[in-house]
Amino acid sequence: MAKPQDFNTKVTPTWCPGCGNFGLWQAFKEALSEQGLEPHQVAMTFDIGCCGNAANWHNLYGFHSLHGRTVPVALGIKLTNSKLTVIADSGDGGGYGEGGNHFLHTCRTNVDITFVVHNNQIYGLTTGQASPTTDTGMETKTTPAGQIEQPFHPLQVAIAQGATFVARGFTGDTKHLKEIFKKAIQHKGFSLVDVLQPCITWNKENTFDWYRKRVYKLEDQNWDIKNKDQALLKAGEWGQKIPIGVFYQESRPTYGDKLPQIKDKTLIEQGVKVGDITEFLEEFK
Ligand code: SF4
Repeated sequence: MAKPQDFNTKVTPTWCPGCGNFGLWQAFKEALSEQGLEPHQVAMTFDIGCCGNAANWHNLYGFHSLHGRTVPVALGIKLTNSKLTVIADSGDGGGYGEGGNHFLHTCRTNVDITFVVHNNQIYGLTTGQASPTTDTGMETKTTPAGQIEQPFHPLQVAIAQGATFVARGFTGDTKHLKEIFKKAIQHKGFSLVDVLQPCITWNKENTFDWYRKRVYKLEDQNWDIKNKDQALLKAGEWGQKIPIGVFYQESRPTYGDKLPQIKDKTLIEQGVKVGDITEFLEEFK
């Protein structure tokens, strides 16, 4: 069985020391290992941002896509080879901003992939601009007088749009986060795991301590993960109290289940060949 460190390459992470990404990375590798997965059984898509750079230090099938485009690439991989465990990885900017349209519509497809969002409520790699999840009133480089917009609520959007597994974790509790990742990977259908991932360099408000004072676990509240109305309401809770855990889960046929062309045999197994695209490429010269 692969150990967590088997999912490392020889490249050392370039994240700032103390960044919340380290806890997420560790929890994720442990989840893959405890699921009995080997590196060649996992495909992961990345985009642009501090988390996007992690394409270099994940030992698995990786695809470094454009900003906000991890989800459609992951969907394509899953439909081509459904035997792979497919993870789309993104930040809150790419996942909910540039890639917002992909996120919205992939929820309702229920394609069997896991979407992991490093939510630090800021654009970190580009040195601190407001993102879709930046809290109202927060001062950033692009909102020097304070953010005047309401933040995007990814969990409520995912539930309303038909995602069949919706959860939130916190990198300050890697054991809990690991269990969420395992459940999301096991789930058949589209899973969103929104991860509270403090950016210690550019977000001085939503710090580890700020979250630690606020987060509480849904499972400690005897939570019913099948109650959609309650999940929608709970997913809107933010501020003095912030729930983490699995908010909602339902069982529904996946996108692939409904395609007879790939239901019993993956495209890879069918030996689908790519034709000669030279003439097509000539059009773009
Ligand atoms: Fe982490 Fe922020 Fe540094 Fe990026 S800028 S590596 S999110 S602490």
